[in-house]
Amino acid sequence: MRISQKINCMEKNIKKQTVYVSEEEKTLNWENVQESFKKTFGSEIYTSWLQKISLIKEYNDYLILGVPTRFFRDWIVSRYLDKMLEQVKSFKLSLNRIEFKIIEENKQDQEIIKINELSKVTEIRDSILNYNRLNPNLNFKNFIQGKSNDIALSYSKKVCEHVSRYNPLYICGGVGLGKTHLLNAIGLELQSENNVMFISAERFMYHFIKSIKKNDMVNFKDFFRKSSVFIIDDIQFISGKESLQEEFFHTFNSLMDKGSQIIISSDRSPTKLDRVQDRIKSRLAGGLVVDIETPDLDLKLKIIKNKVEEIQNQFKENINLSEDVMNYIVAESKTNIRDLIGILNRVIAFSRVHNKVLNVIDCKNILKDIFNQTKVITVDKIQNVVSNYFNIALSEMLSQRRSRPLARPRQIAMYLAKKMTSRSLPEIGRRFANRDHTTVIHAVKTINRLSEQDDEMKKNINQIRSLLLEQ
Ligand code: ADP
Ligand code: MG
Repeated sequence: MRISQKINCMEKNIKKQTVYVSEEEKTLNWENVQESFKKTFGSEIYTSWLQKISLIKEYNDYLILGVPTRFFRDWIVSRYLDKMLEQVKSFKLSLNRIEFKIIEENKQDQEIIKINELSKVTEIRDSILNYNRLNPNLNFKNFIQGKSNDIALSYSKKVCEHVSRYNPLYICGGVGLGKTHLLNAIGLELQSENNVMFISAERFMYHFIKSIKKNDMVNFKDFFRKSSVFIIDDIQFISGKESLQEEFFHTFNSLMDKGSQIIISSDRSPTKLDRVQDRIKSRLAGGLVVDIETPDLDLKLKIIKNKVEEIQNQFKENINLSEDVMNYIVAESKTNIRDLIGILNRVIAFSRVHNKVLNVIDCKNILKDIFNQTKVITVDKIQNVVSNYFNIALSEMLSQRRSRPLARPRQIAMYLAKKMTSRSLPEIGRRFANRDHTTVIHAVKTINRLSEQDDEMKKNINQIRSLLLEQ
């Protein structure tokens, strides 16, 4: 879009920023997006998978991407979709969904060969791709030090200098305060000379269950126990999962026995972990426990300045944010650093299309939306409202029964979960009694189609939406 057009639109839409942003950044430059995929995922994942994705069509709030096979699509959806969407959003904020189309240019037999080839990307490769996903952009260099994270940062660095001296290192703090960033930075620092394993507790469980199903526990145990640096993110996830705790306990002990460094993050201190065996809590607390606290204004300001510089270098563009605007952003963002960066991105996107230095009034307008958004819609809430609406028990709606009076509400709830929350398809599937993400895709498609064809369905969906927004 040309600058003159931008300015016209700007004047027209200055008040309705939400619509404005989505109308503004009209077309996505797919090459740039691909470039950012490469940076985010690393060249191995990029060349094996993401490079092969093409842009078929772009709408205001979603993209249709072309992929070669169904297998390819499922692989991408289950592993990379969230992050891809995050990247895509950094170019065009209004996008909130990605759909895939299988480009059937291959004849059937060719497709079969391709699938077989891909399946040969056996467990080992699969493992490497999934277990060691260190993000090169989350390093010590761009982790900004402040009062709230000083201790956590300095011990994270010390762990890198003296592997196994502080063992385990346990970093705790609320959401969006930099735990994953620190863990990742440690992994990057140590990976050249150690066998680093970096995994979230959730993925640990995923592989654990997969190995049980495939009767392949020997490989699972070997795989995790051979690391010399074992980094596990969000350990609170093991809460209430007995067999997972059992396995984790043994992995932990065996790693400690052979002197591997263990680094753990959690949203709370070891003693406050809910429904976790005492013996595990005491192991977790047995090394060094460090806290990250809520950032003060000074740290937030430094983070913003650094981020602006980073974006300027990355995109080779000049971002003009006045001191006033920066001060305004940090003063207004009350929650955490992830939100702070989200707000900054929004302001930058706005300033890009405006192509001007924004003042505080502009920012107030842009951010009004965010600060007024007090309603949080969760999958739980959607499930409750939908089951109430159709007068069925929640347990029935989540059950495996397939009769229409249960299946339709279930599909509607999945559809709304996709539309109204930021949860990924696999996450939604899991919350519906552990269904597969393909079931969720099917539900979303079905309800999309029905709500176009059937007035009754459209009415139901609208009413449920209003109920959710009113609550
Ligand atoms: P957590 O894992 O604690 O929920 P993350 O590590 O994902 O939080 O951090 C959220 C976002 O904030 C990330 O984009 C991260 O890079 C950024 N961030 C957090 N703390 C800092 C910091 N001190 N300096 C720079 N960026 C930070
Ligand atoms: Mg995290």
